[in-house]
Amino acid sequence: MSLDRTTSQVLFDNGTHKCISFTSLVKGEGVQANQFLIIDHERAAVLDPGGDLTYIPLTMELNRYTRLANLDYVMASHQDPDIITSMPRWLVYTDAKVVASKLWARFLPHLNSAFMSDRMKGNWLDRLVELPDQGQSIALGHAAILAIPAHFLHSVGNFQFYDPVSKILFSGDMGASMVENASQPLEDFEAHIPKMKAFHQRYMCANKVIRLWVNMVRKMDIEMIVPQHGSAFIGKEKVKQFLDWIETLQCGVDLMDERIFHCPV
Ligand code: FE
Repeated sequence: MSLDRTTSQVLFDNGTHKCISFTSLVKGEGVQANQFLIIDHERAAVLDPGGDLTYIPLTMELNRYTRLANLDYVMASHQDPDIITSMPRWLVYTDAKVVASKLWARFLPHLNSAFMSDRMKGNWLDRLVELPDQGQSIALGHAAILAIPAHFLHSVGNFQFYDPVSKILFSGDMGASMVENASQPLEDFEAHIPKMKAFHQRYMCANKVIRLWVNMVRKMDIEMIVPQHGSAFIGKEKVKQFLDWIETLQCGVDLMDERIFHCPV
C-alpha cells in the first residue's frame, strides 16, 4: 500500500513531546475522520483510532513516529464505529490499554469477544482503564493526559482528551465539520459555520450541557481544539470563536417537537 505523505500533520513537537494528526486515512464510504497520536518520552497513546477501515493504514503511519511496542493506550472518546471498532486488533497485536468511559466497559467486548479472548494478551479487565464520570489524569511517559467530561456531547458517556504540554484539546465530535480537506487550517470562521451547524444541532444533546462544557473549557488554557472530523481550531482566537458560537446553539432535545414525533403512517 502506498501512503500519501501528506496524511499526517505534526500539531506540536518540542523534542520530547509530540502530537500528530492523521486526516485522510479513511477511504471509501466511511465519513472522514481524524486519528491522533501523542508521544511523550517515547511512550505513545492513540486517540479515537477508528475501525477496520483505518487500522492498517493507521498502524503504518504510527510506525513512522513510534513502535507499536511503545503504545501504552488506545483512548476512546466514546463508543461509535468510527472511534473504537478496531479495539480487538489493538488488544491482540499490542499491549496497549483501552481507555474509555465506564458506561461502555461492558458493551465494548461485543465488538468481538471470541477473537479477543482467544488471542489477546492478559484479560479484558486488565487491559481496560474505565473512566469515572468526572474523568481522570492518565500518565503517559513523563507527562499526563487529562480525560475531561463531555457527556451527552454526543454520547451518554463521552470524554475529551486534554494535553497540558501542547495545550491541545482533542474534542471528539465537538467542533466536528464536513470539509474538503481536513488538514487545511481553518481561516474564515463565519464561512465554516454551515459545515458544522446541522451536525451539532442533531448530534449534540441539548444547549444546557453545551453551556456546562463551555464554562469548563473557558477556564482551561487551550491553544487548539482538534475535533475527530474536519478542521482544527488553531489559536486562542479561533478557539474563542468556536466557544462563542456553540454556547448559544439550540440542539438535540431543544429542537424535538411534534413535527418529528408523529406516526409516519
Ligand atoms: Fe460519535
